[in-house]
Amino acid sequence: MKVWIKHPLATFTANNQNAGNGVVIDESSGKLTELVPSGQSPKTPFDQSYDASGQILIPGLINAHHHLYQTLTRAFPPALNKKLFPWLQTLYPVWAKLKPEMLFNATQLGLTELLQSGCTTVADHHDICPGTLTEAIDIQVKAADSVGGRVMLTRGSMSLGEKDGGLPPQSTVQTETQILNDSERLIHRYHQPEEGAKIQIALAPCSPFSVSTELMKETAGLARKHSVRLHTHLAETLDEDSFCIRRFGLRPLDYLESVGWLADDVWLAHGIHFNEDEIKRMGQAGLAVCHCPTSNMLLASGVCRTKELDSAGVHVGLGVDGSASNDGSNMMQEVRQALLINRLRYAADEVTHLDALYWATKGSAKALGREDIGELAVGKQADLALFSLDELRFSGSHDPLAALVLCGGHKAAAVMCAGKWLIKNEALLHLDQHAIMAAHQLSAKKLVS
Ligand code: ZN
Repeated sequence: MKVWIKHPLATFTANNQNAGNGVVIDESSGKLTELVPSGQSPKTPFDQSYDASGQILIPGLINAHHHLYQTLTRAFPPALNKKLFPWLQTLYPVWAKLKPEMLFNATQLGLTELLQSGCTTVADHHDICPGTLTEAIDIQVKAADSVGGRVMLTRGSMSLGEKDGGLPPQSTVQTETQILNDSERLIHRYHQPEEGAKIQIALAPCSPFSVSTELMKETAGLARKHSVRLHTHLAETLDEDSFCIRRFGLRPLDYLESVGWLADDVWLAHGIHFNEDEIKRMGQAGLAVCHCPTSNMLLASGVCRTKELDSAGVHVGLGVDGSASNDGSNMMQEVRQALLINRLRYAADEVTHLDALYWATKGSAKALGREDIGELAVGKQADLALFSLDELRFSGSHDPLAALVLCGGHKAAAVMCAGKWLIKNEALLHLDQHAIMAAHQLSAKKLVS
């Protein structure tokens, strides 16, 4: 069955191709088969059409960094108004009590919330595996299956507890053997290397202040043995610079290089505090950075140097980060935040709404090492989001794409992943939003009790 998504008000393809009159998708292959230029009709036959009049068509958004379990501790009073390290030290003991059903509910709710914002692919950094949660990623796979989008589940790890000079409490750290064995098990069991993958696995030590040097090196070796990607937090705060210099005698990026991580199979969350030389080396190595504007604003961490990174050849993607350092998981709103925070660093004519949309689509796809998603082009996966401008907030706007970002678009009218509709008329087609929310709220209460 081929469907023509026709007559959109505007289209953003993320590659400058003309799809002004929509796209044709093939439900059976789950791929885009034709871009229809402005004023034209499809050149190939189609069976059905979807009338996108009054709607904006964009590639499904890609969230390149999250911690879905943190949806259970949004706006948590003891953690409010704290800097990153004390914020983490307040929340670690709470997250240490995470149970399997809580993680399922948090993952399902967070993915659903993101889906409603037009996001079809989510990279989740699950970095906490207390003794009660030995099958965290297995639980997340089930939750992701129930929602229907794509996920890059990163097997996080913490091995350096308080007694070894790390930040997390002992109850949340695992041994290196436990971490590496489980990582390899998950790659064998779930990682789909092929085009169109719905589930991929990456390996993701939490940060330089929560794992040992040995684990950083061995994780890189394991990831390369199985051709999966590597992820971690880096250069998020100036406290981290001081920690790395004190502990390793190196700045964060030098430390990263010393453990074999300065490479094109790595994407970093945040990437704020790099100097000129470091940015140049990152570009030469082909690294990627996931910019997390709201989290950086909330924790007062700083402003990512997106333009310098981009000019140096570093791929820049976009992520909402954990729901405790953003409190919302709305990828469309994150696009707006990215535009606004970048206007604090760069001149108004240097960063545009189209740049922010690019980071959230093709930029994030590159960060995740995927060529098959993040843009509207023939042969790419049919992952789409459509937004209606039929709201008070858009009334009086003139440029539809600029309006989507500047007036505060936040809820998709329709979302498709791999050629299958997941949302239509702003309604979830396969999920009960109220049941998901009720289960999630119960988990959130239990976790902090
Ligand atoms: Zn994070």
